[in-house]
Amino acid sequence: MKSIRDYSSGSALENVNKAIAEAKADVDFHSLLCLTEERAIARAKKLDDGGKKGRLHGVPFVVKDNFLAFGGPTTAASKMLENFNAPLQATAVERLEAEGAICIGKANLDAFAHGGSTENSAFGPTKNAIDKSRVAGGSSGGSAVSVALGIVPFALGSDTGGSIRQPASFNGVVGVKPTYGTVSRYGVVAMASSTDTIGCFASNAADANLVMEIMSGQDRKDMTTLPDFWRDDYAFTKKKVGVIKPFMSDSVDIEVVSRVREYIEKLQGLGYEAEEVDLPMAKYSLGMYYIVTPAEIMSNLARYDGIRYGHRSKEAKNLGEVYTKSRAEGFEAENKRRIMIGSFVLSSGFFDAYYLKAQKARTLLVNEFRELFKQYDVLVGPVAPTPAFKLGENTTDPIKMYLADVMTVPASMAGLPAISVPAGVTQQGLPVGAQLIGDYTSDRALLELAEQVEGVI
Ligand code: GLN
Repeated sequence: MKSIRDYSSGSALENVNKAIAEAKADVDFHSLLCLTEERAIARAKKLDDGGKKGRLHGVPFVVKDNFLAFGGPTTAASKMLENFNAPLQATAVERLEAEGAICIGKANLDAFAHGGSTENSAFGPTKNAIDKSRVAGGSSGGSAVSVALGIVPFALGSDTGGSIRQPASFNGVVGVKPTYGTVSRYGVVAMASSTDTIGCFASNAADANLVMEIMSGQDRKDMTTLPDFWRDDYAFTKKKVGVIKPFMSDSVDIEVVSRVREYIEKLQGLGYEAEEVDLPMAKYSLGMYYIVTPAEIMSNLARYDGIRYGHRSKEAKNLGEVYTKSRAEGFEAENKRRIMIGSFVLSSGFFDAYYLKAQKARTLLVNEFRELFKQYDVLVGPVAPTPAFKLGENTTDPIKMYLADVMTVPASMAGLPAISVPAGVTQQGLPVGAQLIGDYTSDRALLELAEQVEGVI
């Protein structure tokens, strides 16, 4: 893997050429849907010709293909947007470019970010960086694999219910899902607006910290963005971590639990006291998530009607068919499943029983977290119940696939920052991630803690 520092000596053009060559050598993994080669080289030449030296001067990166970015189409890995060329760039991309970073490609994902393995991509799955017979995780699988393979030192992703943390865990890289509202979502294809967050992958916590600091802060184009808190002097003063008991149960892979326990020992070595804590609402989080997010997904996907933009069926003979056939052809099965669930839970007669109930349960979950953070700086547990599973293993069983999100969705429903950090490997050599969940706006402190642990061998 590469770190940002590895790019300080080369010229921007050398860096970009190297990254593109790596990407081409690793094409088998299918981590990228396209290279933005021409634009990247032009930008590199311009940066080498002088111009201000930003904090990421000449550093190559990739973005998940649900970020609007120039240099290639923005597809969200869906046939619906196969030929869509972005008229503008996401704020996150603009901010990184303003510091001299160079986007070299668009990374694969589950179509519209619905999924946890990147197998729902309309253009074929991404393979795990460590074991090609296994999934990359998802939905930001292509971004995680691009960092794990050393194509780029960092990559952007989105995390709505675990889509940065879980692939980070499956590929042995750092993944950051910030506090809801930290980074502008302007120019990122919307999935579920009340939990969508923008974050990144990197090979180490310090690099992730820098990238997040650059991207974070208020944006007039996204009303949910928080005033910049990244440089606030937030510190962990209680010196206590809570180990989430329901996440360390028998139903979790035994090696995953062992690796996370070893990570906790390192935290103890740094002077943190560790205590088991309960999170009774955690077991309802998955239910909440798969009611609330499909409702929001259904609303957000309504814009893909074959009229305004995106795929339009050539078979349609009338307006009704333009809608139905364009959607039938453009969306993947998982997109359709969520549109149907969303329509169902919002329909009159069922709204109170499902959507409203889920939102009430969500408030109880938020309250439980709030109580815990009165006593603990950080909550720790695994990211996922297993290491990367085999390609095809869960594709026929959507419920099984949803269950893999059980440990990542609580922080998403509550809007809390959560990071995935490498915690070692299984006997088979598969990476395992530990998840650190912090209180609102403790993001930087979380990453600094992870950096301290990295220093403990
Ligand atoms: N795996 C989760 C889902 O399928 C998370 C997706 C995401 O965070 N984009 O919804």
